[in-house]
Amino acid sequence: MKEALLKDPVFGMAAEQFDRVADFLELDAEVRERCKWPKRLITVTLPVTMDDGRTEVFFGHRVQHHLSRGPVKGGLRFHPNVNIGEVAALAMWMNWKCALMGLPYGGGKGGIACDPRTMSMREQERLTRRFAQEIAPFIGPEIDVMAPDVGTTAQHMAWILDTYSTREGRFVPEIVTGKPVELQGSEGRTQATGHGVAFTITLALAKLGIKIQGTTAIVQGYGNVGSHAVDTMIGYGMKVTGISDISGAIWNAKGIDHHALHEHVSTHGGIKGFPGAEPIDPDTLLLQECDALVPAALERVITKDNAAKLKCRILAEAANGPTTPEADAIIEQRGDIFLIPDVLCNAGGVTVSYFEWVQNLQRFSWTKHEVLTKLETKLNEAFTNLNNFCEKHNCGMRLGALATGIQTVANVKQTRGLFP
Ligand code: GLU
Repeated sequence: MKEALLKDPVFGMAAEQFDRVADFLELDAEVRERCKWPKRLITVTLPVTMDDGRTEVFFGHRVQHHLSRGPVKGGLRFHPNVNIGEVAALAMWMNWKCALMGLPYGGGKGGIACDPRTMSMREQERLTRRFAQEIAPFIGPEIDVMAPDVGTTAQHMAWILDTYSTREGRFVPEIVTGKPVELQGSEGRTQATGHGVAFTITLALAKLGIKIQGTTAIVQGYGNVGSHAVDTMIGYGMKVTGISDISGAIWNAKGIDHHALHEHVSTHGGIKGFPGAEPIDPDTLLLQECDALVPAALERVITKDNAAKLKCRILAEAANGPTTPEADAIIEQRGDIFLIPDVLCNAGGVTVSYFEWVQNLQRFSWTKHEVLTKLETKLNEAFTNLNNFCEKHNCGMRLGALATGIQTVANVKQTRGLFP
């Protein structure tokens, strides 16, 4: 199984990062092995009646990296390329992210190999409910709490909540986070990841002594994370000059009007053809000059082929795992790019998920202002601690962030000891 996992390029990447950090921390061999491998890898098959009457069988996965520090937390992804290796890598990153942010969770991730863009909402509902039913014995508010990820939304969480609550015979809002507000979802959760991305960019700008007003950003990916990052950055006085999504890429040196773009996307389904900007090749977009480059889609987009050519001052990893280890080495060697690693940059989502879960357990709700203020306090604290760690140990932000997360988990493993 170890070999099979390591053969997956995304898991291979997460494992390579882990090994580098474990060497740096000089982790004891026994603790190192226990930290590296996922506790539970669950795969279920999901027969679903499609709208045309056919039955199609989908594969769904849930990986629970560790339960040593609390329940497992992480998103559920719908994407055609989902496989167990990718899900295991994403679960591992969630583990270090939760530890870095001081959240009482282990990392988890789920995924169903499907293409939601070609499925009706009825088909997606049947698929989601079947997954919730099959995975129900392995999850719970104190075991594993899911949230939206690529290709899923608050609506998918509502279906999981309903399926799980029906099984239990009571309303269990704390089984998922990122759900609609009317089902006890948290105010501020939808924009939390994008808000956190923009907020950490302002922290990086301050650290570099650059005034926010008029700085520029390029955003790759215009889903929930990318679009809210754009809105928040523009709200802060930044200019977003380039955006790409699955339909194409657009460029306007004067800054893209985000209100007009929202309208265009809601009528056309993508950014392609937006009249307020010029089309540009999506790969070329990443190489344009800007203050902040924000990959906000999938893994492995900053690679050894483009890392040397980037013209950004800050690389803000809104996606999980957007930079390969080879690209990391190039960026570190260049020394002119300030990296905000994914486990910090996009941690706004899981942090507000934690706030949502806490509110649910207390049957109490906070205002959007309270939520976003608490989020900013947590991100600020994590950013400052990480900077201090990196300065003290003379290391880069990736290594520092992962080292902080991994050391926290390793300490817990060591103190709990090995059962039996
Ligand atoms: N899917 C998000 C992430 O990758 C959020 C996870 C959560 O809120 O549990 O961080």
